[in-house]
Amino acid sequence: EAAINRIAAGEVVERPASAVKELVENALDAGAGRIEVCIADGGKTLIRVTDDGHGIAPEDLPLALSRHATSKIDGTDLLNIHSFGFRGEALPSLGAVGRLKITSRAGAAAGEIVVSGGAHETVRPAALGKGTVVELRDLFYATPARLKFLRTDRAEMQAISDVVKRLAMAEPHVGFTLRDVSGGGEGRVTFRADPETGDMFEALHGRLARILGAEFAENALAIDAEREDIRLTGYAALPTYSRGSAVAQYLFVNGRPVRDKLLIGALRGAYADFLSRDRHPAAALFITCDPHRVDVNVHPAKSEVRFREPGLVRGLIVSALRHALADAGH
Ligand code: ADP
Ligand code: MG
Repeated sequence: EAAINRIAAGEVVERPASAVKELVENALDAGAGRIEVCIADGGKTLIRVTDDGHGIAPEDLPLALSRHATSKIDGTDLLNIHSFGFRGEALPSLGAVGRLKITSRAGAAAGEIVVSGGAHETVRPAALGKGTVVELRDLFYATPARLKFLRTDRAEMQAISDVVKRLAMAEPHVGFTLRDVSGGGEGRVTFRADPETGDMFEALHGRLARILGAEFAENALAIDAEREDIRLTGYAALPTYSRGSAVAQYLFVNGRPVRDKLLIGALRGAYADFLSRDRHPAAALFITCDPHRVDVNVHPAKSEVRFREPGLVRGLIVSALRHALADAGH
């Protein structure tokens, strides 16, 4: 069992950033209004995610740690629009690759459970005001071969920051703090975004200003288009806005950050007449559609998607962006 867990775990947890992704997604699924991520040594020695969500009842803590016990897969729901989690294997995987401690409060009772090497201890009473604290220490301590493949603390922290910022864009009404606590104590805040207010567009605009800067926000066109029940929303920068050679392309499908060649290609195609090949259009775009029209289970950790109607999606993006650019005088 422990060996199987470890192999499966490697699929979900490739590096500290993938652990952070799973933990922050869980906090979002729990309805958190504020999420704090503390990192030491690029996540290699400590990842701690604290949220103010609905928590886990003490008696449910062992269940949350059993593989697939919480799986929401019913064969059709692979891209649920309302929750990030669906595989029920993140926490068991994290427990197999590091020293995991979960402290949580639901209602009046708070409990704590510790997992090490895939086996968990019994639940103990704990003191916690609200929500959940998940702490993962010494990632890959039992598999030195994997540890060897991790990059420098700085590079791993960069990847963590990228994951947090993408999820912060996906959920502008939620507050996010990322701290580097490598030196101990309170550490240093490396990213902070307070909860945004207003409707979807206002909140996203505020969040993008926070993450990509005021200059992006001032040069961003609001995008809102629909074709055959596939909706495209978000912001795309004017071609005159430049981040040099830096890539600022943030793509989301049904609320999840994704990396997808089709979407990136469509974005490039829309700007083809305005940007030279070495410049990348900057945009944060959200596609919302019926979950049946897109597959997300290509790989648990890679956030790849496969659209059933790629031509339709590409056409929607290219025409919506070209219209917005034309309306803005391009
Ligand atoms: P999944 O998210 O796919 O359901 P996970 O292994 O990530 O699987 O989490 C298992 C379960 O533990 C979740 O379904 C949820 O019920 C509970 N859980 C995990 N993290 C939290 C959290 N931060 N707050 C409340 N419940 C949580
Ligand atoms: Mg999860």
